[in-house]
Amino acid sequence: MYPAQVGYYKPESLGEALDFLEKHESKIIAGGQSLIPMLKLRILNPKYLVDIGDLKELSFIREGDVISIGATTRHSELVSKRLPGAEIIQETASKVGDVQVRNMGTVGGSVSNADPSADYPAMFSALEATMVIRSKAGTREVNALDFFKGPFNTALGQSDILEQVKVKPLRGYKQVYRKIVRRAGDFALVGLALVLKANAGVVEDVRIAFTGVSDKPYRAIKAEEALRGSKLDSSSISKASEIAVEGVNPPSDSRGSSMYRKEVMKRLLRNTLEEMKDAS
Ligand SMILES: Cc1cc2nc3c(=O)[nH]c(=O)nc-3n(C[C@H](O)[C@H](O)[C@H](O)COP(=O)(O)OP(=O)(O)OC[C@H]3O[C@@H](n4cnc5c(N)ncnc54)[C@H](O)[C@@H]3O)c2cc1C
Repeated sequence: MYPAQVGYYKPESLGEALDFLEKHESKIIAGGQSLIPMLKLRILNPKYLVDIGDLKELSFIREGDVISIGATTRHSELVSKRLPGAEIIQETASKVGDVQVRNMGTVGGSVSNADPSADYPAMFSALEATMVIRSKAGTREVNALDFFKGPFNTALGQSDILEQVKVKPLRGYKQVYRKIVRRAGDFALVGLALVLKANAGVVEDVRIAFTGVSDKPYRAIKAEEALRGSKLDSSSISKASEIAVEGVNPPSDSRGSSMYRKEVMKRLLRNTLEEMKDAS
């Protein structure tokens, strides 16, 4: 199936893109990895596409007290970049789709698309990243926890552009992104982003975020609370894994049933925490 006829505009700067978006009913295209299939299925029928995919001013990885990742940075660029204090970003990027998807797809596209099974939303929720949004009215910053509102729904307005994602490095944290898939290169049945800091075997801080189990990234706050201040042992791990699935109602779809997803969540968290315990 082909997309319906659509106008195409390729701005030379972020300013030009923002001008166009404000004046015309349009949709941003970056890597096109999620948008093109939606156009082909005619789920979306915008009048214009605004192609920001090659905007150099949005393609950067800056390190320092804060790590900043520009929206048009490709997944593959993050695969080849180890970011101290945010190592989970590299691991997550390496697990997105296949090589072709990683070469074309962008960080901004993945985050803005807010697919409930995508990898970055859970990972950035665990890192408590800040989304920097640009519009003609100015710049605003939204915490990841408030940014993701529901399936394919974010804090972005019609004429907004996600400019960059900012992350505070979590030095001394163990960081892991695990993903259970039915086929290589597929979206997650369940994905887990876990960052944890322990001192003498006692959990100082932990953040647990799942993908594929809710209409947006799911932070297992109660499990985090149960672990914080506890000795990381089999008993606390088992308890936290049970708590993590309380009150969650994952979807049932072609990848797996709700009940199966809950079981996978529990085991994924337990096994990952056990590995962290053994490595400490
Ligand atoms: C075969 C295949 C397998 C995949 N597997 C995975 C996977 O395992 N895990 C995973 O997480 N994803 C997966 N994806 C999705 C992939 O990661 C996409 O690259 C990503 O979701 C969208 O990035 P994009 O740059 O291609 O965005 P596009 O498709 O260009 O855009 C996606 C949406 O975001 C909007 N948008 C894009 N950039 C911005 C911006 N800067 N500001 C505001 N809005 C913006 C667009 O308007 C559109 O609504 C897969 C895709 C394919 C085709």
